[in-house]
Amino acid sequence: MQLFGTSGIRRLADSNLVELALQVGLAVGTMYDNVVVGRDTRTSGPALLHAATSGLLTTGARCKDAGVLPTPSVAYAAREFQTGIVITASHNPPQYNGIKLLNPDGSAFSPDQQKQVEDMVGGVNPVSSQWDRMQPGESYNIAIEKHVERIKQDFPDNLRLKVVVDCGCGAAYYITPYLLRSLGCSVITLNGYPSGIFPHDIEPIEANLDELMQAVRDSGAALGIAHDGDADRMMAVDDKGRFIPGDKMLAILARDSGSKDIVTTLDASLNIEEMGFKVRRTPVGDPYVSEELKKGGGFGGETSGAWVFPQISLCPDGIYAAARIASIASREQLSVLVDSLPSYPLLRGSILGDRANVEKAKDRLMARLKPVSMDTLDGLKLNFKDGWLLVRPSGTEPKIRITAEARSEAAARKYYESSVKIIEGAR
Ligand code: MG
Repeated sequence: MQLFGTSGIRRLADSNLVELALQVGLAVGTMYDNVVVGRDTRTSGPALLHAATSGLLTTGARCKDAGVLPTPSVAYAAREFQTGIVITASHNPPQYNGIKLLNPDGSAFSPDQQKQVEDMVGGVNPVSSQWDRMQPGESYNIAIEKHVERIKQDFPDNLRLKVVVDCGCGAAYYITPYLLRSLGCSVITLNGYPSGIFPHDIEPIEANLDELMQAVRDSGAALGIAHDGDADRMMAVDDKGRFIPGDKMLAILARDSGSKDIVTTLDASLNIEEMGFKVRRTPVGDPYVSEELKKGGGFGGETSGAWVFPQISLCPDGIYAAARIASIASREQLSVLVDSLPSYPLLRGSILGDRANVEKAKDRLMARLKPVSMDTLDGLKLNFKDGWLLVRPSGTEPKIRITAEARSEAAARKYYESSVKIIEGAR
């Protein structure tokens, strides 16, 4: 039984998902006996959290409830436990919910750990429990404070700048405004209440952040910040009210990390290598970045807004990232910084298709486009002297995602359009 996608379990929230949460609680409680649980603001969160907690307590595991808080705050708390459970569907719409399972270092459960859970939920190794081992459960209401205190250690200066935060009625509704105020910022909060009914699509992409961009322009703020539903992601708006693209955010945060050793995904811009970083590339998906950072590295990220700071945890930490970009904006005007970074024409899109279509087209792509090297870590990446092309089947939809970047618009367009033609022709 396969339950896990690249970011945990995600489903429409209904009684089936509540039952599954109970089963996952039973499985995790059998594997570990000291667990912290938390949830984002979704309306189905309490039902799922109670179900998972019931499962944990039934097995005799000790369980502490950290309440409503971001995934990275649970990840930071997990260092004092054997594992962490977060009830969230991340950036999915509010009718969805899900379960993320975290190790004490903040990393997501490995494929082996996921398989163990799946086997127990599927009944291969059914869970047994005894009435006299069941635990009472406790609350754990210091997780946010501990996370904030740890982040503040890295930002001793008074930041003194105006920031607009769009909490989107998600899990960061309290912590990000609170943290930034305690660092010295003057904070304007948008959608800062935990209704779990997101007033706009909660994925932090430019198309969803009109209100934030307008508020930054209207208020003359130095910075705007947005998160996804569980605030493991953070994206920003500069002092001109312009959304900062993910590739530039990666460069800005990498530059400020003080490390030359950076981890990012295959589909991020070549600007990061151009800036002189030693870059290790992983398949697309932030869990791969976290996994690679276990081998070392000062900073890692995915351009979707998932930024990993290994000194805090191996979970992408949108809250720490908010403090980091505020600190940068207190020293430099963000719009000037953004415009000074190298940037190349980059095209992203998708066509209908699957893994078999990519396989069929592989030889023709190689023969016609003549790359200087290729990489099959995730889909097919062709490297050229003046750019690259990535063709990869989506993990969640019947689509092939195509990304092309080159030093000139014409070359990027040539790689993109040729690949579409070749894949279509090879069907
Ligand atoms: Mg998320």
